[in-house]
Parts: sequence; structure tokens; C-alpha cells
Amino acid sequence: MTTTPSFTSPILLSKLPATGVTIFSRMSALANEKGAINLSQGFPDFPPDPRLLERASQALLTGNNQYSPMTGLPLLREAIAGLIARHYGRSVHVADEITVTSGASEAIFDAITALIKPGDEVVLFDPAYDLYEPAVTLAGGVCKRVTLTAPSFRPDWYAFLEVLSDKTRLVLINTPHNPTGSCWLAEDLEQLWQAVQHHDLYVLSDEVYEFIQFNDEVVSVHKHPELAQRSIVVSSFGKSFHLTGWKVGYVVAPANLTAELRKVHQYVTFCTATPLQQALAEHLLALPEESAGLAGFYRQKRDLLRNALANSRFHLLPCDGTYFQLLDYSDISDLDDVAFCEWLIDEIGVAAIPISVFYQTPPDNQRVIRLCFAKADDTLMEAAQRLSAL
Ligand code: PMP
Ligand code: GLN
Repeated sequence: MTTTPSFTSPILLSKLPATGVTIFSRMSALANEKGAINLSQGFPDFPPDPRLLERASQALLTGNNQYSPMTGLPLLREAIAGLIARHYGRSVHVADEITVTSGASEAIFDAITALIKPGDEVVLFDPAYDLYEPAVTLAGGVCKRVTLTAPSFRPDWYAFLEVLSDKTRLVLINTPHNPTGSCWLAEDLEQLWQAVQHHDLYVLSDEVYEFIQFNDEVVSVHKHPELAQRSIVVSSFGKSFHLTGWKVGYVVAPANLTAELRKVHQYVTFCTATPLQQALAEHLLALPEESAGLAGFYRQKRDLLRNALANSRFHLLPCDGTYFQLLDYSDISDLDDVAFCEWLIDEIGVAAIPISVFYQTPPDNQRVIRLCFAKADDTLMEAAQRLSAL
């Protein structure tokens, strides 16, 4: 007779006890299960430029299938330097200041891991994109949040000064802003610079929606030379070329910061898919002006959605950038925003994102959801028709 040995598993103390599956995975899964129109998770439902796909196929078939240099393919880094020079007039050193990463997410994790020691404080703006806080927590850091208030969601710089301390090591900013679709003004970056210049801290600027700004003035840390010398600026080809599944991004930072960030990057991923880097490099060099058209492309979709919802009972908040539109539903329901999103999927067949999940402290009685308009016009019209029936 055999006996089954009994095992006791070691006690598992989670490093992220409060973290569950992301709201994006949850809402997309519900949308798929219920057959709802998915305006929740931010990704395009239309294909990328076929010429870019052709370049990627060619790159795979013609032998670009081994590791690239750890810092990224030189051709791609050259092309990125060209893009930054054209858009922002900033000259970046290709070898020492640009690193290609597996999406902006990896870049943000690398930067936080490289810079934050246990007990260091990181300033975030509330609401904040969901990956910032867990990355800080894993590094042993502590987040201090400054509230952004509707409808502009621009910072109160007095409140910002109050959270700075001699433990603050990093300020994490994000403009254009996910989830609110707000954009900072150039004067905000100047205020930030005035506030931080005498502190021993760095800025991590998440600019993944940099080419989707609808205001006349395009705002970026790349255009603020003093701040840029203190900053790590993160970009994503996923947003700029409708390829969220490729997970290719890049980081620009002064040489001393780049050197620290690469110490992490070289052990997290070492390098990013080589054929995808090759394809993006060739595409950027062949069509250097393409990203300049992105804001016009998404402005048309924003306006289509806003016009189609104009007579609904939702209140539309301003949208100056990103591909996200916020809707206030307080005239429609008393449900909290998570319950309202679940109800919308079940009853109306449209999936959205509740914005309370991006806050440490959601404002009382705020009833606001986020719609992604990176979708085909027909998809947007059908969703708007369903929402207008409420
Ligand atoms: N930051 C923000 C604000 C985002 O919306 C996203 C989008 N997913 C990311 C970072 C991550 O980008 P990536 O998919 O390139 O990792
Ligand atoms: N950034 C995307 C959004 O805000 C989601 C990305 C993800 O699911 N990881 O919708």
C-alpha cells in the first residue's frame, strides 16, 4: 500500500496584498463574455499601417531573429533621435541617452527600480495610471498623492509643494493623462521645475500619448531643457502606431540616469523583439512625418463620439488628449462606477472603465466612467447609439 506524503506549503506573504487583476483585464474579459462593444481597455480595434506589418514580416523572414544590442537597435535609436529632434527640437545623444524597452511599462518599472530605495517617497497625481503604485511598492518606496480635480485635472501647485519632503526622490507625471484625457500646459511644467529645482529628486514623465494632444500647444518635458536634464521621458510605439500588442517603447534620459536604468533593463528583458525594432526603424525613417498626423486622426474620432453623445443624458468632460473620453453619469444612475460599468455591459452591451480605481481616495459621489475612442467609426456610432438610449 502506498501512502500519499503530506506537504505543507510555505506561508506566502504577498508583496502586493491589495493588488488584484487589473481593471483592464476584468472589463475586457466581461465584454468578451457578454458580447459587449469594448470601449474599456485602451487599444485600437483597427489594423496598423499595412506597410509596417509588411516590414515586420520581411524583418522576420530575412534574419533579424537574434538578440539586438541591450540598448536597442542602433538604427531604431537613430530614428528615435530624429523623431525627437523634429517634434520637439531637442537633440538627444543616441548612444548614451536612448534605450529601447519592451513597452512603456517595462521602462517605468526599470526607472522606478533603478531610482527608488526603501523609504524613498514618490509623488503621484491622483488619479494615476494603475502600474505606478505597485512598481513603487515593490521597490520599497512610499507614494504620496496630490489630487487632480475635475474638470481640468491640472495640478494645484501649492498642494504639490506641501507633499514634497527631504525623502522625495521622484515625481511621476503623465501628460496627456490616462484616465482623464487632460493635458498639462507649458506653465505647469514650468511650475514643476520651479518647485523641484532645489530638491534632490528626479522626474519620471510618462508621455505615451505625446502625439495625441488636441491643444494648439504641444507640451512635453522634451521642450523644457532644465527639466529634461532631471527627467526620464517614456514613450510607447504601441500608442503612436496602433500596435499595443507589440510592446515596444523607449526611454530618453541624461547619460547618468540612463546608465542606472540600463542596469535594470539588461536583467529584466535584456532587449526587445529584434524584428519589431527593425520594422519600426525602417518605417520611421521611410515615413518621418507619420506621427504628426496622429492628433488629427484621433481628433476626428473624439468629435464623432462627442457629437454622437451630445443629446444623451451623460455629461461629457473636456478631452484635450489621449484616446479617452470621460462621461459623468450622475443624471442616469446612483450606482458606484464599478457597479455601473458592470450594469452597462449587461444591460446596454457597452464596456467602459470606472475611474475610481485609479485613485487612492476617490472623490465622494464622483460618478464618472472612461470610454476609449481608438475604435472604428462604426463601433463608436453603435456604442453611442446604445448609450444615448439611457
Ligand atoms: N502609461 C500609460 C499612461 C498608459 O496608458 C499605458 C498604456 N497601456 C502605458 C503606460 C503602458 O504602455 P505600453 O503598452 O507601451 O507598456
Ligand atoms: N493602457 C491601457 C488603458 O489604459 C491598458 C493597458 C493594459 O491593459 N495593460 O486602457
